[in-house]
Amino acid sequence: MAKKPDSDRSANKSTTPPNFFNKKAADKPIPKRQKSTEIYVTGILGGDRVTLGQAITLIESQHPDHQIQAQSIVEACLPHAGKSFRIGITGTPGVGKSSFIEALGIYLVQQPKKVAVLTIDPTSQKSHGSILGDKTRMQDLSVHPNAFIRPSPAGDSLGGVARKTRETMILCEAAGYEEILVETVGVGQSETAVHSMVDFFLLLLLPGAGDELQGIKRGIVEMSDLIAINKTDGNRITTAKQSQKAYKNALHLLPATDSGWIPPVVTCSALEKTGIPEIWQICSDYRKMTEKNDFFQKKRKKQASYWLHERIQNDLRLHLQTDSTMKTALEHIETAVLSYQKTPFQGAREILQLLIKKN
Ligand code: GDP
Repeated sequence: MAKKPDSDRSANKSTTPPNFFNKKAADKPIPKRQKSTEIYVTGILGGDRVTLGQAITLIESQHPDHQIQAQSIVEACLPHAGKSFRIGITGTPGVGKSSFIEALGIYLVQQPKKVAVLTIDPTSQKSHGSILGDKTRMQDLSVHPNAFIRPSPAGDSLGGVARKTRETMILCEAAGYEEILVETVGVGQSETAVHSMVDFFLLLLLPGAGDELQGIKRGIVEMSDLIAINKTDGNRITTAKQSQKAYKNALHLLPATDSGWIPPVVTCSALEKTGIPEIWQICSDYRKMTEKNDFFQKKRKKQASYWLHERIQNDLRLHLQTDSTMKTALEHIETAVLSYQKTPFQGAREILQLLIKKN
């Protein structure tokens, strides 16, 4: 079973082992002789961070043996997962996401709550190492014993990264992490992936500029459960208050949400740590309200169904690409389609028939 959270030992931070946000430190190497699944699961359920880190590395590995073992670890952890509150945090680079997560995370670990921070960073696919993870970030949180920080896995498609993050979330929950913060850069498709795996979605904005100017994709504001105008400090306070009013008016014009929740617009400063307890109160109110009206559970079921279908499509595609018989058959059928000997629908039906016959 998951350990009870330790008391706040942030005062000891100079003696605590170094930075979990460092990509190299977070990539706990898989031991030479792979541990048995039972040892991994016992370690995770006991809240052992080293074992948790190693199991996540198995999830991220491309090696087929690692993937098989990772699946059995995830399956064994699943009955112990699902009890956390999952919060997605987005905003353009520079808005203060990592500073905000550091401030919120420190507030939470002092409650004391166990906090896991995961990131989905599409840029990590290209740079083979997370830009988010390479920066020295969340310095106090990363050394806190109640926190576990894991950067985005590298070298995969967004779908692959999202699936791995979702499985990582299950292991973190089984290890007793109660609050899971999933960070993503507010560009591209990653917010949609994060939105489909969290309970609550928080958008950070800067004072002053409208969402187009901040590079916020259309639809992101609509999917947010809370908008927080960060950097409300120094000479930005007046502008921030004006932005707050403008966003409140804009949100007012949107159709009512399925949850019955009216997304608030608040101001905060991650730097001065103002507005953080108020934001946490809003998150907690949302949870309470949606648990009561059953939206919370409904949303999780909808997400599970989404991931089931996503996984089927992905695995099917992978099978067609890697199984030699299927690959050859697909190539032949594609040639026939491209030379108008078969219609795409006929070709697809033949592929499915072959797949069914083969298995
Ligand atoms: P991220 O790219 O969204 O993760 O942003 P960072 O957390 O790295 O912050 C970008 C810059 O903004 C850094 O120089 C931070 O110190 C600064 N910053 C973050 N939050 C605040 C804030 O609330 N107020 C002010 N004045 N600066 C902030």
